[in-house]
Amino acid sequence: MPGVLVFAELADGGLASISKELFSAGRPLAQALGEPLCTFIPAEKGGEVAKEAGALGADRVYVAEHPLLREPHPDYHLIALERAVQQVRPSVVLLGKTPLGINVGPRLAFRLGVGVAQDVVALKIEGDALIAERPVYGGNAMARVALREKPFVATVRPKAFEPLDPTPGRTAPVQAIPVAIEPAAVKVKVLERKKVEATGIRLEDARVVVGGGRGLGGPEPFQQLEELARLLGGAVGASRAVCDAGWLPYQYQIGLTGKTITADLYIAVAISGASQHMAGVSTVKNIVAINKDADAPIFQEARFGVVGDWKKVLPAFTDEVRKLLQQ
Ligand SMILES: Cc1cc2nc3c(=O)[nH]c(=O)nc-3n(C[C@H](O)[C@H](O)[C@H](O)COP(=O)(O)OP(=O)(O)OC[C@H]3O[C@@H](n4cnc5c(N)ncnc54)[C@H](O)[C@@H]3O)c2cc1C
Repeated sequence: MPGVLVFAELADGGLASISKELFSAGRPLAQALGEPLCTFIPAEKGGEVAKEAGALGADRVYVAEHPLLREPHPDYHLIALERAVQQVRPSVVLLGKTPLGINVGPRLAFRLGVGVAQDVVALKIEGDALIAERPVYGGNAMARVALREKPFVATVRPKAFEPLDPTPGRTAPVQAIPVAIEPAAVKVKVLERKKVEATGIRLEDARVVVGGGRGLGGPEPFQQLEELARLLGGAVGASRAVCDAGWLPYQYQIGLTGKTITADLYIAVAISGASQHMAGVSTVKNIVAINKDADAPIFQEARFGVVGDWKKVLPAFTDEVRKLLQQ
């Protein structure tokens, strides 16, 4: 009976969107293995979320309730997940490629003495192995990784799978997993948590992103990018050079060490297109680049490119968008 176990994360009192996507990633694996799709919910109180998980397609729900699981502290969640894995003995453990998931997943795999596939965008069971695919070289190639030792542990890239729709009235059996967490055994203490006030559309969710690079020359031009993003109902992002320079906070950074965007349209303004930046835009459908250097690497990836000074091109482009929207 073992199962495919989704490590659930919570947001605003319910299941985080990544967890809903993991149900969608896990369902075909469960079918291929002939095993149930299970979820593990570590939380201070998991009752309501357990119901939501049942409606979203989980066949079995395991809940570990503990006051220390209120915060997304990786050490506490690792203890809880390891306990769940010992009890459930799943064939597959799926986590999101989130700050919590990328911390807990590899550490769990290490403790279990198995491999881990990271940043996965496709998964399937082939024979006795789990085959995972992940983008490499900034999305220019896909690596296929075979995990042969169970449990197969994988962290899945957000937005790689469409979340399943809930089936009202669908329920799943819920089982409590008792966890003992000894706070003194945990070496890292969270002293303070500061919430970054976000306004507008989240970069990761935006269908249109307008990104700015070092070629903008300073923080002020980002007002013009904001204006274009507002007209297109999108969000503003930036290269790491911009965030390193302190022009924008790191929450705006797109790329290997920043956020992954999945927009339909990415307008990159004065961004060179370094591979580390492009790693964050590999699943964007259309890239439009504005750069004064015709040899900038961004043009190799862009569907449309304008070679020119952004100071001339961007206002003209924005005016044109404004006119089109008024028609
Ligand atoms: C381990 C590691 C991780 C990294 N992770 C990331 C990451 O997550 N995200 C990321 O972005 N980078 C990352 N980087 C940095 C990356 O290698 C590049 O240095 C960075 O992306 C460059 O940012 P940029 O394109 O804004 O700046 P630049 O490379 O300086 O490019 C500026 C561009 O602006 C153009 N330009 C200049 N003036 C104008 C003008 N007037 N009009 C039009 N165009 C103009 C130039 O032609 C140039 O192409 C990482 C690097 C390392 C080593």
